[in-house]
Amino acid sequence: MRELGVYVHVPFCRHRCDYCAFATYTDRDRLMARYVAACVADVARAVRVGELVEATSVFFGGGTPSRLPAPWLSRILAAIPRTADAEVTVECNPEDASPERLAAYRAAGVTRMSFGVQSTAPHVLASLGRRHRPESVPRAVEAAATAGFSHVNVDLIYGAASETDEDWAGTIDDVLSLPHPPGHVSAYALTVEPGTPLARDPARHPDDDVQASRYEVAESKLSAAGYGWEEVSNWARPGHGCRHNQLYWRQGDYVGIGSAAHSHLGGACAGRRWWNVRTPDRYVAALEAGRSPVAGEERVEGDRYELERLMLSLRTPAGVPGSALPDAAELDGLVVRERGRAVLTVSGRLVLNAVSSMLLVGTPEAATAPSPCADAGPAEPAVQVASGAGASGRYPAVP
Ligand code: SF4
Repeated sequence: MRELGVYVHVPFCRHRCDYCAFATYTDRDRLMARYVAACVADVARAVRVGELVEATSVFFGGGTPSRLPAPWLSRILAAIPRTADAEVTVECNPEDASPERLAAYRAAGVTRMSFGVQSTAPHVLASLGRRHRPESVPRAVEAAATAGFSHVNVDLIYGAASETDEDWAGTIDDVLSLPHPPGHVSAYALTVEPGTPLARDPARHPDDDVQASRYEVAESKLSAAGYGWEEVSNWARPGHGCRHNQLYWRQGDYVGIGSAAHSHLGGACAGRRWWNVRTPDRYVAALEAGRSPVAGEERVEGDRYELERLMLSLRTPAGVPGSALPDAAELDGLVVRERGRAVLTVSGRLVLNAVSSMLLVGTPEAATAPSPCADAGPAEPAVQVASGAGASGRYPAVP
């Protein structure tokens, strides 16, 4: 069966967190009703032109999808054709997780809840500019279990200036000791994004060594509790992996609905990527006028496409073909080689950028590995990546 994801971007937030550079707004709630109608129209357009057939996963991200009244979110979901077993995730502020809202999500076909927890230490939340109260987290996770959700994720962030080793260890312990612990945990290193309040306050910038040790604590505690790494920043108990995100990491196909959403439809050796206008105002205006919301697109092929595939795969336990990394002393301890694959160790995950920069595409060595692009014509000169995705940054469909 062909896997196809749909990402729906909900660009509304109650409050702007100090570290956030996502395409989201605190002053556009007046657009919500028109935005929902525009998303429904955009889905219909994508179906009409054949981009969107049957989705195997749908992900409502943001922004804060739970800012939308549940019936409005359900209206968008109802418009999306999807398989009977489709995974449907909604990101939710823990304080929005009322039993009524979660029951409405369940009735609409949502299968997975993702809560933005970040930390269970109040002073850490304050230093991140987050305004939810830690006590809302156990209530939200419990309410999700009561509503019948067997798939729950919590998002955590480590490296805030006010966070101690004990705060971080305590946050993970708190999550793991919930009566219904989530099956999936995402833990991201705090990153300084240009233009954010955090960027303007160097005293709060995270320390690389501290972040590395926090990552090791996360890996250690989560693996001891039965969570395997699914990607550098994601861990899951067996059966609780995120089908939608796995699609991204496999360079799979997805259609983005909403402002700033990105799409990708590809084949073995080439793909088309496009992205929508960034603001909800322009998105709504385009759809209401019957115009395309697409702001730009590109075609990626050949070695560059293969390189992207390798960079994504390197982030996961699938690793890359052994021939895609040189047999270099610098990689000792950073990758393990088994059954023809090279897979990051924990130490390697901490320096993902450096390992990614050594990926090889188009060399005679790389060509000995089975490649989906083997029939694509003569190999181009070797390509090396100048920089990779952040070792622990969020991997969003929205820049
Ligand atoms: S971090 Fe999340 S909740 Fe905070 S402003 Fe960004 S999208 Fe909104």
